[in-house]
This record gives sequence, structure tokens and C-alpha cells, in this order.
Amino acid sequence: MYRCKHFDIRELVPEQEYRTMGDAAWWLLDTRMLITLDALHDRYGIIIVNTWHSQRLQQHYGFRDQSGYRNRFHYGSMAQYLRSHSQHKYGRAADSLIIGSTAAQVRKDIIDNPEWFPLIGAIEDNVNWLHFDVRNCEPLMVF
Ligand SMILES: [Zn+2]
Repeated sequence: MYRCKHFDIRELVPEQEYRTMGDAAWWLLDTRMLITLDALHDRYGIIIVNTWHSQRLQQHYGFRDQSGYRNRFHYGSMAQYLRSHSQHKYGRAADSLIIGSTAAQVRKDIIDNPEWFPLIGAIEDNVNWLHFDVRNCEPLMVF
């Protein structure tokens, strides 16, 4: 099993999954996403995904519990949950705050240097965070 070098499992799954699965919650996350998160950390330094486990992080970055793996509580109804094909639902996406860099700068780096993060399938444009995912998509999709 791949466990991130730079991330605690609580940073990547909602509290519900952590409470019920503990360390096995790593199973919910795509290895390619985890490898890419570590690679982003190696290049840019500290990255915030979820904050539910830390009052200190919540003071700075707000309450975040669905920014990695996303469960049904993110959605207004079960019907909406079932309709969604968000990459977050499959453990293949992270909405990341990269401390010391803007999301726009990191997106530009990813587009200009695809070999740095070869497992990324798509990134979201025009948002203040870096959404990347490892969907089965080539070349890189920007949506
Ligand atoms: Zn996202």
C-alpha cells in the first residue's frame, strides 16, 4: 500500500471515513493521486487539503473535510451524490492550497512542464485552489 510521505490520512479523507476505517482509509485513494500529492509537496512545500482534524489549520484555511476523497455528505441529497461522477468520489482528486504559490502559477507550471507531474489527467481553471485529478485522460485536460 502506498502511504504519502508528506500527508496524514486525515488530510485526505472526511472524518467519517477516518473514524470508521482508520488506516484502511488509504484504500479509498488512488495511488496516482497520492504519488502526485507527494511530488507537489517535494516541489512546492506545504500543501493544505483537509483541515477537519486541526483547529489551528481551520483558523487559517477554514473548515475543509471534502477536499480529497468526497463522501455523500458533500451533496445535498442521495440523488445528487449518485448522479455525480466527480473524481473526488473515486479518490482521484484533491483540491489543494499550496502555501507560498498561487493556484494560477502552479497550473501554469503543470501545463508548461507536463513531465513534472505525469500522472495528472486534468486540472480545473479559474479557481483559487489547485484541483488536480488523475482521471484516465491524455493529453492533460483543463476544464
Ligand atoms: Zn476538486
